[in-house]
Amino acid sequence: MNSEVLIIGGGVIGLSIAREIHRNGITQITILERGKIGQESSYAAAGMLAPNAETGEAGIFTDFCTESLSLYAQFAENLFAETGVDIELDRHGTLFLSFTEKDSAELLHRYEWQKKAGLKVEHLSAQETRKSEPFVSPDVRESLFFPNDWQVENRKLLHALRKYAELNGIEIREDAEIKNILSENGKVVGAETENEKFLAENVVLATGAWTSFIKAENLQMPVVKPIRGQMIAFQTAKRLFEKVIYSSRGYLVPRADGRILIGATVEDAGFDKNIYDLSTEILREAAIEIAPSLGNLQIYENWAGLRPFANNGLPIIGNLPHAENLFIATAHYRNGILLAPLTAKIIAEKLAANRNSEYLEFFRPQQARSNDLSLNISI
Ligand SMILES: Cc1cc2nc3c(=O)[nH]c(=O)nc-3n(C[C@H](O)[C@H](O)[C@H](O)COP(=O)(O)OP(=O)(O)OC[C@H]3O[C@@H](n4cnc5c(N)ncnc54)[C@H](O)[C@@H]3O)c2cc1C
Repeated sequence: MNSEVLIIGGGVIGLSIAREIHRNGITQITILERGKIGQESSYAAAGMLAPNAETGEAGIFTDFCTESLSLYAQFAENLFAETGVDIELDRHGTLFLSFTEKDSAELLHRYEWQKKAGLKVEHLSAQETRKSEPFVSPDVRESLFFPNDWQVENRKLLHALRKYAELNGIEIREDAEIKNILSENGKVVGAETENEKFLAENVVLATGAWTSFIKAENLQMPVVKPIRGQMIAFQTAKRLFEKVIYSSRGYLVPRADGRILIGATVEDAGFDKNIYDLSTEILREAAIEIAPSLGNLQIYENWAGLRPFANNGLPIIGNLPHAENLFIATAHYRNGILLAPLTAKIIAEKLAANRNSEYLEFFRPQQARSNDLSLNISI
């Protein structure tokens, strides 16, 4: 089978790239997925679009996050027009709460650098915080409000992206695990599973935490590892919170249908998606600290996913040296839902029009090649 572009990996990144290159005029696209489309990290995510809450300093990564967020309203609108699927972009914003002196010091630091960097951030007193979210604990000391940290229903986003592919003749092959990248005379010509070859002019690896398993002769692939995240959810009859709410120990994401997602653990634990009681308990405690009334609720859903992480915590986006037609888009770690539209845009512009971007230079695969994955974090 010949494609103009072969995309390996059917998570939010692979699916978004497929859509965007199709919108840029490339029509022969095949997506190969080792399991089922959109069932890995992208499904496990909480769907927060949170440049303020998720970044720690001004710089190119923060710029990348805010620029990707700025694409979201149009992304959601276009997806609805293209597929009829509402991805529930919710712009109520995010609160970051303080319960201790240490939390308050962190909040002050965050407030100062974000103001200086021109990000939108407001300081709220305890009273203002409780007025804005009445179910928040009376122990709250103060908070920051990030009006531009939004959320999206990531499972619906995956559904919309899949539907776009199906409606537009993008071929999807599930249960197709790529083992090797194929090269001829030093040029990448496709990829193969154990028993099938797929030929293509360009290959995009959007293989998340599994990227390092793929072999490519004479090419040095970046190292990506899984960082486990467990989550729980409660179900309430009606929505109790308007905004996403963070503390330093966890976050709460209220969905339109009354579900409340609580996340997430951050565990360097290999390819393990089991549910652990200890993690469940830690998440429940983080939720109760934010809003004590949640302690009365039964857990409605419990799951885990594997975030793709590279040694420096930054995404890997671009083509490998000496392999101009092999692209990688992975290691989006905690922010792949947020970063999907801009990742797709820069890859599509490169593929369809050979247009470069400073982000392709900054996130190029070579910057993440070290084997020194020294991260060692627990819950
Ligand atoms: C608990 C949790 C909460 C999160 N919350 C948020 C959040 O609120 N906001 C946010 O922006 N991000 C969040 N993230 C991070 C986000 O989910 C990831 O960054 C994003 O999903 C990565 O997308 P991806 O497409 O690269 O990976 P995945 O969704 O993992 O997709 C990769 C796909 O590639 C396939 N694949 C791998 N190897 C092969 C192969 N050899 N052949 C064929 N197919 C292959 C896999 O089966 C998989 O389907 C969260 C993650 C977790 C786990």
